[in-house]
Amino acid sequence: MQEGNLKAEQTLPRLAVDELDARRCERVQLRLHVGDLERDVVHAGAALGHELADGRVWPERPEELDAALADEQGGRLDPLLLDRVAVLQLSAEEPLVDADRLVEVRDCDPEVVDSAGSHGAMLDNRSVRAMVLDEPGRPLRTAELPEPNLGPGQVRVRVDACGVCRTDLHVVDGELPDPKLPLVPGHQAVGTVLEGEAEPGARVGVPWLGWTCGECRYCRSGRENLCDFARFTGYQVDGGYAEQIVADGRFCLSVPEGYPDEQAAPLLCAGLIGFRSLRFTGDAERLGLYGFGASAHIICQVARWQGRRVFAFTRPGDEEGQEFARSLGAEWAGSGQPPEKLDAAIIFAPAGELVPAALAAVAKGGVVVCAGIHMSDIPSFPYELLWGERVLRSVANLTRADGEEFLALAPRVPVRTEVEVFPLEQANEALQRLRVGKIRGAAVLRLG
Ligand SMILES: [Zn+2]
Ligand SMILES: [Zn+2]
Repeated sequence: MQEGNLKAEQTLPRLAVDELDARRCERVQLRLHVGDLERDVVHAGAALGHELADGRVWPERPEELDAALADEQGGRLDPLLLDRVAVLQLSAEEPLVDADRLVEVRDCDPEVVDSAGSHGAMLDNRSVRAMVLDEPGRPLRTAELPEPNLGPGQVRVRVDACGVCRTDLHVVDGELPDPKLPLVPGHQAVGTVLEGEAEPGARVGVPWLGWTCGECRYCRSGRENLCDFARFTGYQVDGGYAEQIVADGRFCLSVPEGYPDEQAAPLLCAGLIGFRSLRFTGDAERLGLYGFGASAHIICQVARWQGRRVFAFTRPGDEEGQEFARSLGAEWAGSGQPPEKLDAAIIFAPAGELVPAALAAVAKGGVVVCAGIHMSDIPSFPYELLWGERVLRSVANLTRADGEEFLALAPRVPVRTEVEVFPLEQANEALQRLRVGKIRGAAVLRLG
């Protein structure tokens, strides 16, 4: 995640107020959490008289606002004060509570909120199995969580399979800042709609991009992947390492027919992000793929289908990986310098030293695309490596259009995903095998 997003998040409460003014929307729903506690609050758009989760109106008098402000600033934050804090957050010029307490803000339909009552209420005490990250650097914990609450515009999905992505590893290992905690990771969930804003029984995929504002300069220019306020599945909202997930219906993707759940799951990020990266290589004929994991094994097939020549780079001595790459159509697989110059390279491995190596491998005018969300520092390199109109760029997240385009293309290739399947409870083992480069193709958790 980019730093810009964090800064933007700090100003989210102001945004909410500004949005009320600009859009004349009547209410904004806020979800705050402090520790394990969560509260939903409805902002009714006036300096006084905000509606709290239990339906009371607060503050009725200006003195009540001042008193609560003093409590908050004095550090006497009681869980019962959460509703008030939410209102303060909206009323203040500057954010009053840490940004990580604010987990969600969105417009809401008054009707829906009213009929749903308090979103904090648990439904029938039903619980779902999940794997939970309490703190980065610690293994995931097996947990029974209350069935997630369904908010306005959301769908409840029974998760049938969820891919394990390198990004999950970065979140679990603490390489990405400020995840929601506790967190259910996973952003390649394939499942069945149970209720909400989609046809019950529909088969959907829940990808990394969980929500965008639709209003910022990126959203308005077809670049929602860069949205200042984007929220990501399995990072800032709970993901698919669970029997159920709730997701914004507008961001779910339909899963192509003909793919069993486990085979479809890696298409949702490894495939999608890889495809976005591939597009940025233009019509490059000789394509290098650095790190032959979940993404590369899919993109190798797409690139071959498009008529490109593929050169696969693995860890030195990884003969099994090299053989795997050749079996999927790579004409060369190895480490070090390729036998001839490349026209483009995509770096999937999170190793900064591959950047100068890839620049050295591409011909003049060549493109090097960094596809991962995290990478170790890039060592300095002579300008000569970039000279000759070589281009170095990153790829961030996905747009819904990417998702639709790629999921329509995959069955035409047809892309065949190779997966190692683990039961949900073995998510830690799957992550560990990914960490040490032992997964052939993609790791997928099976539920049910
Ligand atoms: Zn936006
Ligand atoms: Zn991913």
